[in-house]
Amino acid sequence: MKKVEKKAKKEQNAAVFRQTFDRRGRLLQWFHEVNMQYPWLKVALVVLMILLPLNEAAQAQKVEEARAPTRAVALNLKAPARKRSLEGKKLVALTFDDGPLAATTPQLLDILKKKQVPATFFVVGTMAERAPEVLKREQKEGHEVGSHTTAHRSLATMSAGEIQAEKQQMNSIVERITGKGVSLVRPPYGALSDTVRGTMGQAMILWSVDPEDWRDRKAETVRTRVREMAHDGAVILLHDIHPTTVEAVPGIIDDLRADGYEFVTVSELAEAKKVKLESGKVYRSF
Ligand SMILES: [Zn+2]
Repeated sequence: MKKVEKKAKKEQNAAVFRQTFDRRGRLLQWFHEVNMQYPWLKVALVVLMILLPLNEAAQAQKVEEARAPTRAVALNLKAPARKRSLEGKKLVALTFDDGPLAATTPQLLDILKKKQVPATFFVVGTMAERAPEVLKREQKEGHEVGSHTTAHRSLATMSAGEIQAEKQQMNSIVERITGKGVSLVRPPYGALSDTVRGTMGQAMILWSVDPEDWRDRKAETVRTRVREMAHDGAVILLHDIHPTTVEAVPGIIDDLRADGYEFVTVSELAEAKKVKLESGKVYRSF
């Protein structure tokens, strides 16, 4: 009895083996035929195997980008998408003068990044040369960079030639550091003359909200003043070289957001309010 069982089992195993072998044989034969008939198929398959994971990686990156809040790395969301979403919104532009300063500006950039707020920095040439990495970071993180002149001298007392030279020098400093020139200028002290208007060749951006943060070095005071004076289209004047101002910024952002404002750069503000920025013209708000 046992012997018979064993024999049956053996035969069964052999059958399974033959069947598997046959199947594999047929499969190999099929591969061989396909290979002979379509020799390029191998190459196509290899290329496909390389391309598919690459495409997947690209898709994953796209998803990651889509997830990033409002503005891209940190803040470089492409203009058209943002423009649409800015229609009819209450907008303000935070502007920071007199930097970059290694002791205070990076902390401000951290705050802006964390809160996803774009700003405009009107930098001084001599300051930028002392803190080029900070200026680079301002640009890299999607903020707008404008000129506050090379050495913060009043333009109102300069001749046309001096203004031209000043402008060229400042442009080359910023361009050397960031790879990009500047199109906006904030004249130091807001000082203007007909010569300045005639020769500057850049849009001049003053301000409509001045909390006098350079005089009153108290974060709470600065914060309160900004909230009280803020209005749609406002250009808010601040200075990133004062620790008290940097300290005030998180509160300013929270207050204005609570009041329904959104933050944009100066150029974005002009565009959203359909104002074309023109060389030699002065703008205080939009
Ligand atoms: Zn200044």
